[in-house]
Amino acid sequence: MTNIRRNGWFNTFAALLLGAVAALSLGGCSVNPATGERQFNMLSEDQEVALGIEAAPQFIQQGGGKIPDANVQAYVSSIGQKLAAASERPDLPWEFFALNSPIINAFALPGGKVFITRGLMEQLENEAELAAVLGHEVGHVNAEHIGQQMSRAKVFEIGLQVVGAVSEQSWIDTALGAGGNLYLLKFGRDQESQSDSLGLRYMTKCGYDPRGMLGVMHVLQDASGGGGIEMLQTHPLPQTRIDRVEQEINEGYAAMLNNPQYTLQPTPYQQQALAPLKKLPPAPQPKAQ
Ligand SMILES: [Zn+2]
Repeated sequence: MTNIRRNGWFNTFAALLLGAVAALSLGGCSVNPATGERQFNMLSEDQEVALGIEAAPQFIQQGGGKIPDANVQAYVSSIGQKLAAASERPDLPWEFFALNSPIINAFALPGGKVFITRGLMEQLENEAELAAVLGHEVGHVNAEHIGQQMSRAKVFEIGLQVVGAVSEQSWIDTALGAGGNLYLLKFGRDQESQSDSLGLRYMTKCGYDPRGMLGVMHVLQDASGGGGIEMLQTHPLPQTRIDRVEQEINEGYAAMLNNPQYTLQPTPYQQQALAPLKKLPPAPQPKAQ
């Protein structure tokens, strides 16, 4: 009995020590390649990738599963991969999923897993708007907003304490449990605006009309009376955010307005997303939580 207890105490101590070492050596302060800002992130890139891979199936399941149409998945994925390749972190294991949920939402997990719901896809009108949504989420990933949120929320300190004692699995479970979804998906106004800027950067690099970003915001505004707009809980949309995007487009992207090289692409979106979605049975209603 004594031995077990002593071992237990020792393990706890060792875990705390390893946690402290891990905190110093793995993540910490660094300059972010997308934003150029010095930032504090407790997650190393390997941990970000592991967390995304671990958590993705849970989010797919909670989001109604994937839309049961391989062509639609491939279409969303092709646009997402194009944006990711044009971004500052092209080498992450990017994956883009179209979820069979009627709720209007889009979100990302650390390490490059990005999700958009059918509810949102059905509201969009062109490929540039799809690129704006996915580009915004790629922005959250590249700017490491999720890791910063978790570090700030201190939930991760708890995870690091168990990292030595049990396994890699534990910190992931710890991070995802205890309201992990909230920590992962809720952002502040500055982070939203930063992701809007990054989204504009990526979508225009891929030849899309930057006004697609404004189009998405108007879609969300118009839909916000109808309920089921989870997007607005995870991505606050005050008028100031829309004004900032408008200003940024007019100042930074003026040369790309009314320029035939930067397009909205309504026809491919109609043919490869909206038309096939119409042929599917309605998305299942989410279960009450
Ligand atoms: Zn966002």
